[in-house]
Amino acid sequence: MTTADSPGQELGSEVGRSFLEELQASIYATGQFDTPRTADLTQAYRDESEEKIFRQNLEILRRQAEAKNTKPTQEAEDHARAAAHEVLYGSVPTQFEQPALYGIVKALAKQAETAISAVLGQQFTQRPVIGTLPTGQVNAMAIRVPGTDEHVIVFESQIFTFCLLFSKAVTLALPFHGLQNDQFSMSTEMSEILDRINNTPEIVRRFYEVVAAYTVDGLPSQAPPYIPPEPWGSVAALFRDLMELFIMTHEFSHVLLEHTGRGKRSASLLGGNEAEVLEWSQQQEVEADALGILLLMGSPTVELDAAMRFVGVSLFFGAMTVVERAVTLLQFGEERQLISTTHPANRERLRMASQAAQACRIVSEQDHRAILQLADAVEGIIETLWERTAPHIIALRERGVRPHRIWTGNSGGDARQRG
Ligand SMILES: [Zn+2]
Repeated sequence: MTTADSPGQELGSEVGRSFLEELQASIYATGQFDTPRTADLTQAYRDESEEKIFRQNLEILRRQAEAKNTKPTQEAEDHARAAAHEVLYGSVPTQFEQPALYGIVKALAKQAETAISAVLGQQFTQRPVIGTLPTGQVNAMAIRVPGTDEHVIVFESQIFTFCLLFSKAVTLALPFHGLQNDQFSMSTEMSEILDRINNTPEIVRRFYEVVAAYTVDGLPSQAPPYIPPEPWGSVAALFRDLMELFIMTHEFSHVLLEHTGRGKRSASLLGGNEAEVLEWSQQQEVEADALGILLLMGSPTVELDAAMRFVGVSLFFGAMTVVERAVTLLQFGEERQLISTTHPANRERLRMASQAAQACRIVSEQDHRAILQLADAVEGIIETLWERTAPHIIALRERGVRPHRIWTGNSGGDARQRG
């Protein structure tokens, strides 16, 4: 940040923005993805959408307040109305960026930057341009703007819906024990968790719906929408935010650690555009995870304890592992680890991530134990839900269903992941 925040500055530099727009234009030109152009929407459609989004936001607020025996404040209602307006009219860095998605990445970038200055006492000399791109990978990635020291960080367009639905299904399995000091208290006992999963068939169904929608249709939004009861709804939203913040701090870490320029060039994505998509080495991934976790743990804008924060990390690696297992089970009839010469297995990354959390000086000994306890519970939930989902995925395969082409597309038939 070499200059103060003048209008437009927070969207990123001109050169970065036009590079992002070129990438988006070339990927949408392939015709594989619908082109999201908010500018093309009619006024009537915008008005209707804005009202609908506001009503949904209000309903969620009402339920959250009800769970605490209160009512939504006027301030919260006004905020919900303003947020709905932003979704249709917020400023965006390129013509292909939707204000709804851009609003999310912008807020994440701001949170991550605040963490960078609080934890490292550092600022970007050149703030990366942030945006979205339909890459078909449960991830985000950093791309260097050719011939410059600038970066673009793109989030897979579907990742926010996927993170939300995945987080909702996993959170539904947590047994809550009411309020304690105005905080929701939950059990991390596996026996209680199993009881809850056994007695609530909806949990496995919701988990299956999001996994199938993403792997078969390529669109998690194809899963039936629902608002979980409280407190599960509020907690799932918190976990989703943490998952996304970790993805952002991880990508920022690649830039901060100056991994750029050392990555391998790849043009297999992005409509064949010669872009420097950086494929990091395993060592670089581990470093970005560790710094990403340090930033997440020290983020001053997150009002949660260390164990809750780490759920964002557990959920992210858990989600990637599940998608990998589901895609390969559909494609090959057996679970495989996706071919990647550069990435350590997701489960291995989770193990190293918890070591990185342990090594964080800002996390106390007591916090370490709490982190591991909750992380084990989340891992246990994901493992159990996957075990019960796998037979349904096999049944799909037996009916001839295969993974959506975004997973197997233009990389020689092998499903891949990168990040
Ligand atoms: Zn990475």
